[in-house]
Amino acid sequence: MDIEQVKKVGVLGAGSMGSGIAQLFAQSGFEVVIRDVKQDFVDRGMKAIDKNLSKLVQKGKMSEDDKNQIMGRIKGTIEMSDLKDVDFVVEAVIEDLDLKKQVFKELDELTRDEVILTTNTSSLSITEIAAATKRPDKIVGMHFFNPAPVMRLVEVIKGALTTDESAQFVRDLAEKKLGKVTVLVKKDTAGFIVNRLMVPFLMEAIRVYDEGIASIEDIDKAVKFGLNHPMGPFELMDFTGIDISYYVNEVFARELPKELKHTTPFSLKQMVRSGRLGIKTGIGWYDYRKK
Ligand code: NAD
Repeated sequence: MDIEQVKKVGVLGAGSMGSGIAQLFAQSGFEVVIRDVKQDFVDRGMKAIDKNLSKLVQKGKMSEDDKNQIMGRIKGTIEMSDLKDVDFVVEAVIEDLDLKKQVFKELDELTRDEVILTTNTSSLSITEIAAATKRPDKIVGMHFFNPAPVMRLVEVIKGALTTDESAQFVRDLAEKKLGKVTVLVKKDTAGFIVNRLMVPFLMEAIRVYDEGIASIEDIDKAVKFGLNHPMGPFELMDFTGIDISYYVNEVFARELPKELKHTTPFSLKQMVRSGRLGIKTGIGWYDYRKK
């Protein structure tokens, strides 16, 4: 199959990533079918897309007519069977291996044999997800960053049985049709490239704070002005969700070699246990309720 033959794309999950990915494909001219398990979740995803596009219209970056055409290309559904004639799939359901395996088994039975099925997983094994299908050669990791329509990078990950052709297909589609920059992750290991580098850095920032070396504000300031990062590590954790950093580090502790230090800092555990997850809960390392 050629990327030019991809006309209709299936997206599984209408959460923050799924809705962003659906928006991106529709903005790039594809027909999109986005599926979630409840109509409420589908509606929430469609509303988020509508809101994002309206902002672009308000800023004069898109016409009202373009917005309506993009929205017209996205069909929300709760029926898996609506994905039976799609030419490409991105799965972005919650980060749960058993659920993803079940979803891939269903997709494998439903879609044409030639269709490449991708997962947006941040930390699970592509190889293990692929094992739930009869086409492990065509299962690829397609790791977008949040917000998917804005962030330029897509990590393309090969599982143990993924062919070079399948990985290249996903890279070509992302670069030529979605305007993304891609990198190839040759081995299906925890964290791929970006999280493998970033999460230990975030954990070290927490340790510097826990050891009383500097305040949260000063650590963020040091990173922003000394390393030219747009956000400090604590601001970044609050932005992406503290639970995500926690979860990925727990996966590292299980999956990566023992000699690398991946113990989850106690204060991070306490943040997650007390439900202080960052901007989305109003409080994280910083308090957003006062603002
Ligand atoms: P989310 O919780 O916002 O959305 C997940 C959605 O999947 C929910 O709406 C849920 O109802 C739906 N869902 C559950 N079972 C389903 C099924 N069988 N079929 C269809 N939909 C189903 O989660 P998210 O943040 O969008 O993350 C989705 C995936 O993307 C995860 O694998 C996550 O690791 C990955 N990811 C997240 C980020 C991020 O910054 N949030 C970045 C990159 C990758």
